[in-house]
Amino acid sequence: MLHPRPEDASQLAYALVSTTGLMGVLFGWLLISWRVHALIVVWAYFQHQLFFVLSHLTFHAMFVEHEFKDYSLGAQFAFIHHQPGQQNVLSEHWCEYRSTWFFAGPALRLHTFTLLVACYTLSNAQTVAVYFGVWLFFMNVQAILQEYFHVDLKERNKRFMSGTLLGLRLLESCGLVNFEGHKKHHHHDNEISARPEIETFTDMWCPGLNQLAVYCWNRKLLKLHQPGQRRMTTACHAGWLCFAVLMVLSMLCLTV
Ligand SMILES: [Zn+2]
Ligand SMILES: [Zn+2]
Repeated sequence: MLHPRPEDASQLAYALVSTTGLMGVLFGWLLISWRVHALIVVWAYFQHQLFFVLSHLTFHAMFVEHEFKDYSLGAQFAFIHHQPGQQNVLSEHWCEYRSTWFFAGPALRLHTFTLLVACYTLSNAQTVAVYFGVWLFFMNVQAILQEYFHVDLKERNKRFMSGTLLGLRLLESCGLVNFEGHKKHHHHDNEISARPEIETFTDMWCPGLNQLAVYCWNRKLLKLHQPGQRRMTTACHAGWLCFAVLMVLSMLCLTV
């Protein structure tokens, strides 16, 4: 008799989510018009860049103000991969790590919110389904990209399926992926909890967003720091509120 292991269940859950994402991007145009599909793909891409930068700033604020035991699982993975010599943690625990982007508490809340906003603003069930699929796709791309950056060139063929590698190389050759920027982001790994100034926060192309994130971190968030207080993370939570409002407004524009 077969005895499924817990990791089988999480791999199956992850496979379902990533397949839904792929279906949304590759076949969404079969359900809705190709113009609306193209618009949704572009829209979801930029929403994801904003989401990623805000999560990244929040994680780094937590590294400064909170203790490791208080981090969410996603923040714990992010913190460990910032420790010198520990950057393989993401690919070594790939399923557990990628699942934090979909099933951990904060991620689940975000996806539920996104789905509710999509149901409220978009006109029909097909459009909601395609939008949500595309949303999951970009979440998955961002998750895998973090692993990809830290896997040795020679190891990449072993670590990733050929389809995934092809997609990632395509992103790299289009200039959508900022490999050098990510390397720069790791320049301060030795002092990650000691409020270093950071030169780059984004991993993918998005005009002006990295400058905005660097300004917020170096000129605003670092200046809020008071020992024993959590003013940096509170400011990031205010940023999440703005993000939620922006999501609703932008989705309303999508319906016009
Ligand atoms: Zn980081
Ligand atoms: Zn990294």
